[in-house]
Amino acid sequence: MKKFVSLLLVILLAVSAQSQTIIQRDPIIEKMVNEVNSDSLKSYINSMVSFGTRQTMSTFTDNKRGIGAARNWVLDKFNAFAKNAGGRMTCYVDTITLPPDGKRINEPTNLGNTMAILKGTDPNDDRIFLISGHLDSRVSDVMNKTSDAPGANDDGSGAAAVIECARIMSKQAFGATIVFVTVSGEEQGLLGANFLATQMADKKWNLEAMLNNDIMGSNNSTETNIIDNTRVRVFSEGLPAFETEKVANIIRNYGLENDGKARQLARYVKETGERYVDNLQVVMVYRNDRFLRGGDHTPFVQKGFAAVRITEMNENYDHQHQDVRTENGIRYGDLPEFMDFELLRKNTALNLSCLANLAKAPAMPQEVKVESKNLTNYTTLMWKAPKAGAVKGYYILIRESTSAFWQKKIFTDKTEVKLPYSKDNYFFGVQSVNKAGNESLAVVPVPAGR
Ligand SMILES: [Zn+2]
Repeated sequence: MKKFVSLLLVILLAVSAQSQTIIQRDPIIEKMVNEVNSDSLKSYINSMVSFGTRQTMSTFTDNKRGIGAARNWVLDKFNAFAKNAGGRMTCYVDTITLPPDGKRINEPTNLGNTMAILKGTDPNDDRIFLISGHLDSRVSDVMNKTSDAPGANDDGSGAAAVIECARIMSKQAFGATIVFVTVSGEEQGLLGANFLATQMADKKWNLEAMLNNDIMGSNNSTETNIIDNTRVRVFSEGLPAFETEKVANIIRNYGLENDGKARQLARYVKETGERYVDNLQVVMVYRNDRFLRGGDHTPFVQKGFAAVRITEMNENYDHQHQDVRTENGIRYGDLPEFMDFELLRKNTALNLSCLANLAKAPAMPQEVKVESKNLTNYTTLMWKAPKAGAVKGYYILIRESTSAFWQKKIFTDKTEVKLPYSKDNYFFGVQSVNKAGNESLAVVPVPAGR
């Protein structure tokens, strides 16, 4: 009882000291974030553009032009970085031959995802974190495989972020495994992402988070005259696309429409990204993707994985999916000259900070439950230690039901707490945290004791 009273005191003190946010950065992550370099990103994009077109059905046998040369170039980059990883990084092009599908593939096509897998150092930790961007590009006609399709921003920006994260992170050790991938076939119907998501689901890979980076290096809309390089969007699904009926019942019963896996990940991206990247606001958008558009995270959420899309705040449609041309004095086409490499640097750093914090953190707490046997204005939460990683303790996250973000964060080194907050009025989450302050994703408790 005494123990409980003192714990309660600590909690009350913590809650009353909420007026200030204390930012504590892990110096190892901070150092990696500082290594993200806008000149590196620019040079990767110029190299990708130099392949003329990276359309999915363009040549894959020419060594200077087309998607084949591009994917081999990414592989060479990954292999060069792997030399710093002491044998922990495996790189390859994962290929499949796709038959014509009557949609956006009209001839047998050799599709290849360029992969780099940085194996975790903890043999008991099977968690995987994935960062993705698409290497393929397109012009106005999606079937055109010969015209120049520079794809500097769509999605040279995302692919460059993947390469830059691989460069910096390959030199570091993480408990969990990180997968860096530039996929192909996005513009032809999310084909490369679907190929990868299917394999991961079939092989039961323990993929805990997927960050899809697509179109994130341009800062303006010429339509609305907005120029802004301080904000980025993260899209996350609301009602999950996976096991819809089963999940919908739980959501309906407990009001969890804003607490799915993707939404938790989006919240984590915002909180972690803003902790490590200065002058960047992460704007959560409560939908899976934009109107009329798709993205590589979607095949992953359809398989039940936590996946989000990271995209610039203001898209410029003169520079996406356009033939390179000048018309009525307007320059069209997805060219590097229209990009903001400082914005891309920040967005890459955002990805890096999230991946590093996740892969360094202990795994999520297990069997997180909320006591629901009795009518009481207290809330009792209980859980079990995570499967992998050294734990210093846990953060109890609390927010009002109308709040988008966690409002209180309370530390405990126990695996059960009784809080003076009614479970009827607040949402809760529990994260594992280690000595360096790296937190796992939050787990929302399920009712216990019925
Ligand atoms: Zn794209």
